[in-house]
Amino acid sequence: MSVRNNIDSVDSNVPGDESKKKQYGMSTIAIHAGSRPDPTTGAHETPIYNTTAYAFEDSEHASELFNLQTFGYVYSRMTNPTVSVFEERVAQLEGGRGAVASASGHAAQFLAAVTLLEAGDEFIASRNLYGGSVTQFGQSFPKLGWKCHFVDPTDPNNFEDAMTDKVKFIFCEGVSNPGGIILDIEQIAEIANKHGVLLIVDNTLASPYLMRPFEWGADLVVHSTTKFIGGHGNTMGGILVESGNIDWSRNDKYPGMTKPDDAYHGLTFSETFGDFGFTMKARMVALRDYGPTLNPTAAWNLLQGVETLPLRMQRHCDNAQMVAEWLEKHPKVTWVSYPGLKSSPFYELGQKYLPKGKGAVFTFGIKGGFDAGTKLIDCLELHSHLANIGDTKSLVLHPASTTHRQLSDEQRIGAGAAPDVVRLSVGIEDVEDIIADLDQALAQV
Ligand SMILES: *Cc1c(COP(=O)(O)O)cnc(C)c1O
Repeated sequence: MSVRNNIDSVDSNVPGDESKKKQYGMSTIAIHAGSRPDPTTGAHETPIYNTTAYAFEDSEHASELFNLQTFGYVYSRMTNPTVSVFEERVAQLEGGRGAVASASGHAAQFLAAVTLLEAGDEFIASRNLYGGSVTQFGQSFPKLGWKCHFVDPTDPNNFEDAMTDKVKFIFCEGVSNPGGIILDIEQIAEIANKHGVLLIVDNTLASPYLMRPFEWGADLVVHSTTKFIGGHGNTMGGILVESGNIDWSRNDKYPGMTKPDDAYHGLTFSETFGDFGFTMKARMVALRDYGPTLNPTAAWNLLQGVETLPLRMQRHCDNAQMVAEWLEKHPKVTWVSYPGLKSSPFYELGQKYLPKGKGAVFTFGIKGGFDAGTKLIDCLELHSHLANIGDTKSLVLHPASTTHRQLSDEQRIGAGAAPDVVRLSVGIEDVEDIIADLDQALAQV
């Protein structure tokens, strides 16, 4: 039997059988999990199933599918075979039980929130988040009746201090965009657990290659797969992964999981689907009703990307470490915030949580503030100036004038995006060329 047949291929829209999963290494999972040669044609590569719907065997089969009494494909807003392979692959990379892919990272965050929150509910989030997440949580979610308490995440006690009866989850980025901040996820998970609420970790910047939040007590992981998982800057996507260890019965905070659902003849997601109940609810209610679906072509692009995640991530980290060390010695650079540097306050946490490398996205301060920052960016030739990270290509951005523009000055500084801050996403080119480009641009500032 080939590896592919052993590594849990996806035949329907349910997560694979846990007992059949072997303990393969991360590089093997990145290439094989969830896929197998097409049973009809033998096609070795996962086909792009460009279909919206799937023919039923007969009327009884159709009604069983609609009642969730049997698993199978009905309509591609909820499930599609190409997308399923991608979901299973990322779930296994994270060491999770199941996953729901979505049109973007923001859509994955929305699916998580809408599955857990009722109007009037609250949650606590790190204030050191991707700028778009601060806006989503702080400005758009309140319109749905969800309140977010932002806290400084570098002291885990701040999460505890912000806890209220209405809080349903804590949300943080283990490695924060953009500041090179690493959080003590294990401690934050303990606080969440103590209060009977879930911990959701946005693992976009680390990727499962560098860190697996479930191993430190997280309950759900979200990704912008637009970034390192896809890895080539060509496809938008997101994913929401469930650990499989959530005990819904410990309190009555999540009626959507534990109370009968009228739309499905009174079934209860936590009871009927057990350790992948959240995945089923997020898919068969949130994705069904709000519709931010990942399309099969995008899923296929992301599958191509994820195959080389371990190789790319290691190179990204090795290059970033060298660039950070070089910048730290440059006279026009005031500070470098990279957890792989001994000067970083997050050096120790980096050693604990990210032993293989400290990621590829970090910031540094340039002498001369706002004007020097924009001048540097205009002088760079190899680096692309754009609002993305996690591409094979080296990218540069001035957050204060772009991604963090909508925030107030106070929020900007809080999120590590002050006027002198330059953000790099170090690519996988030859590191000598990356450094030479920075060198010539700094010389002109
Ligand atoms: C980009 C990003 C997001 C949002 O993802 P999209 O795919 O752009 O919707 C969320 N979190 C982090 C850390 C990001 O970098």
